[in-house]
Parts: sequence; C-alpha cells; structure tokens
Amino acid sequence: MMDTAVLTDRLEKTHDLSDDELSALLQCDDAEYLYERARAVCDRVYGNNVYLRGLVEISSFCKNNCHYCGIRRDNHNADRYRLDADTILRCCETGYALGIRTFVLQGGEDPWFTDERLCAIISAIKERFPDCAVTLSIGERERESYMRLHEAGTDRYLLRHETADKAHYELLHPKEMSYDHRMQCLTDLRDTGFQVGCGMMVGSPYQKLSHLICDLRFIQRFRPEMAGIGPFIPHHDTIFADHAAGSAELTLRLIAVIRLMLPETLIPATTALGTVETNGRERGLLAGANVIMPNISPADVRGKYLLYDNKICVSEKTAECIRCIHRRVESVGMKVVTDRGDPAKAQDLE
Ligand code: SAH
Repeated sequence: MMDTAVLTDRLEKTHDLSDDELSALLQCDDAEYLYERARAVCDRVYGNNVYLRGLVEISSFCKNNCHYCGIRRDNHNADRYRLDADTILRCCETGYALGIRTFVLQGGEDPWFTDERLCAIISAIKERFPDCAVTLSIGERERESYMRLHEAGTDRYLLRHETADKAHYELLHPKEMSYDHRMQCLTDLRDTGFQVGCGMMVGSPYQKLSHLICDLRFIQRFRPEMAGIGPFIPHHDTIFADHAAGSAELTLRLIAVIRLMLPETLIPATTALGTVETNGRERGLLAGANVIMPNISPADVRGKYLLYDNKICVSEKTAECIRCIHRRVESVGMKVVTDRGDPAKAQDLE
C-alpha cells in the first residue's frame, strides 16, 4: 500500500512519479492532502486569482462525427446555427464590460469559417479590444491555416488531444479521423507560436487507467500552456448514449496531479465538471484549477450548442453567468480577476 501523502510530497518536489505510483495516487481513497498541496502550489504560482475565459460558441455545424459529441455531423436532431461577425463582436462587448479579457471562439468544424472570414473577425476583435487575448477552439486545420490565424492576432489555441492512446482514440472517433493528424495539429500549433491547450475527457468509453497515465505522460512531454480536463458526459443522440459519465473525483485527482507535475499550467475548472457535480467547479479550484470559462454566447443559441446532456448555464444570460461565477469563486476563498491570465513563466517561480 503506497502512502498518499508520501507520493504527493514526492510529486510536488520532483514533479514526477512512476506509472505505478501515479496509478496509486489516482485511485487512493484519501485525496484531500493531494488536493491541498495542489491548491497550495497553485497559490504560490498564481495566488488566489481565478482567470476568466469568455466562451463564444460560434457554430454548431460540424463536418466531423466524433462518437461522443452531441453536435456530430450525423446527429440530425441537432439544431444548427452559426454566429456572424457582428454578433460575435457584440458578445465580446458584453463580456468586456463584465471583466472578461480573454475571448474564446469555439465551435464545430464548420467550413463556412474560412481563414479569410476568421482572420477578419479576429482582427476586428483585436482592434476593438487590444488589451484582450483571443483564443480559438475550432478543431483540426492545416499548418498554413494556423499560421494565418496566428498572423491575424490569435494568441492561443485549444485542441484537446482527447486521449493519448492511439487504439483508444480510434474507439472514440470514426475511421476518417486520425490520431496522428490530431497530434500533428498540436505540434503545428506549438510551432506556429500559439499558447496551446490540450487535454482529455475523463471516463470516456473504453478508457482504462493506463490510458490516463498515457495522457499524463503526453502532457508532461508536451508542456501545454493550458490543460483542459473534464468528465465525459453522454449525449442521448450519440452511440455512447448509454455509457456512464466520468467521475468528478477522478477528474479532481487528475487536475491535482497535473498541477503538481507542471505548476505553471493553466487549468480550467470545466463546465462539464460543474455539470456532473453541483459544486464541481468549486472543487476543481480547490484541487488546483485556476481558470473558469463562462459562456458569453447569445441567449438564443445557448440551448443549441449541446455537446453532452444536462449542460449547465444554458438558460442564463451572460451577466447572470458571470455573477454566479463570482459567487462560486468567492465561496472557496478565491477571487476573479480582470486579466488576460497569461501563463506564468517557470523562471518567475524561482
Ligand atoms: N471542434 C473543436 C471543439 C470541440 S468542443 C475541436 O474539435 O477541438 C471542446 C471539447 O468538448 C472537445 O475537445 C471534447 O473534449 C469535449 N466534449 C465533446 N463531447 C463531450 C462529451 N460528450 N462529454 C464531455 N466532453 C465533451
């Protein structure tokens, strides 16, 4: 029996453990100390600040068919919409007035959003809000496309690797999608000069503990600026409708382990974590997360961007969402800051 406190202390000090030790930590039944140390390390690097990322869900059209996702191409029950440039700018306007300094444009892989259209939108946002960061989360594109988007002013890009195990990746995606291409995209994004976010779902169908260890090793090697970890949640119109959701507890352990492995990583307490458990996001913060991504999409499309069932914050307006987040953050002794929330550099820590 490996002692949780001993493993936690060693992970904090050396930023590493063996595969068996990591497995033990992920499965321990006394994770409180692990969470406490992760919170303390986060505090040392970022203080008790929580950074907001305003999420604009720009399109529910998608050419892909990921087995787990509610807006997959073959879900004919999904309500499809896309936002035009003016609408996106208005969302940013609303968010800015409420203290948002990072805008994340996320959507399905919608061919309508050509490089040309996206670059025009990004330049307009950067011109209007020069003190803000712009993040894209619109899936796999070619290297040249990433270069143009970066050139237009995009600061960051979120592309979860979903699972670092190739065979597992193939169980979660249709044949026409490839693990190698997704990984290539992450390399291209890094080479292009973006701050990059990767990450995985916890408890996705067929996932084993060994896959999560593989994810941790990938994250350790890739050193993303952000690591997005959220539980898988079934969507009723997908082939995974009858699979169980991932556990909040395991998600929290992974957040804490990543905080101790890579102290400067930005880690969101995800909406999915807040969906599987009422106070999931607060617990995420207490386990070492330091980012929350409030939805700043227009009220009339919120109910259409449904990647999974029972998603929270669908019927609130932006101002209510942000007020609610302030309250939740303060309830765990942290504070929301009006800041781009760039990653701390390793040298700042010495
Ligand atoms: N099209 C973009 C954005 C995807 S949505 C892309 O491919 O990157 C952002 C993330 O939501 C996905 O990367 C995935 O990890 C997560 N997601 C999708 N379906 C989900 C589900 N059923 N449960 C939990 N998370 C899900």
